[in-house]
Amino acid sequence: CGIVGYIGNRDAFPIVLKGLKRLEYRGYDSAGIALINDDRLSVFKKQGKVDALEEFTIGKNLSGNIGIGHTRWATHGEPSDRNAHPHYTNSKKFAIIHNGIIENYAQIKAELISKGYVFHSDTDTEVLGNFIEDIYTNLPNKSVEEAIRFALKRIVGAYCILVVHEDEPEVIYAARKGSPLVIGIGKGEHFLASDATPIIEYTREVVYVNDYEMAIVRKDELILKNLGNERQEPYITKLDMQ
Ligand code: GLU
Repeated sequence: CGIVGYIGNRDAFPIVLKGLKRLEYRGYDSAGIALINDDRLSVFKKQGKVDALEEFTIGKNLSGNIGIGHTRWATHGEPSDRNAHPHYTNSKKFAIIHNGIIENYAQIKAELISKGYVFHSDTDTEVLGNFIEDIYTNLPNKSVEEAIRFALKRIVGAYCILVVHEDEPEVIYAARKGSPLVIGIGKGEHFLASDATPIIEYTREVVYVNDYEMAIVRKDELILKNLGNERQEPYITKLDMQ
């Protein structure tokens, strides 16, 4: 339902949490945030309001300059802590958040189960995460970017996804088809969101990602590619003052 991401020099957690609050108007049943800190990926998620998530995180180590957050509107699996996003993959190296619906998830899930994958939620999203992981594991060059691209070519449905990997604590991968994604450009930082509401207080320069495009987002670099691995020139729009 709602998506927020941050990568830069500041603490990601408060920025992502505030962004999720800005997206509350859309309605949702659960919320969660993944952070990478000292090369460790952690996921915090809770059924209920963003306030419940915030309460749940009190006293936990929330540092990290890279974070992704989600408010969920359940389509596959009841609203619950385990079905809330972000989802880890089996290796716990990847975390994924997703808006939309993966229509052919059942077939891919069956394939992954036959390969030994275990599922901890009822979501289509966790299937996509493990599908990316499975491709990644089998790639000789161990490229997260390529694994995501290959996976997306087999996916039927609508999605906006953000993906992080523990071994690449300087990148957020994002992609969309039929579900919006905006990237805000700051000074040495980038903001990602499903609409501009969480971004506007930090920057007015944004890029609206197109369908079938993927963004490779570092704090000081934004690369856009289509699913054919061709670079696309980011088209920067200025948000107006209202
Ligand atoms: N289909 C996903 C789920 O049920 C994402 C729902 C959403 O867009 O929030 O978890």
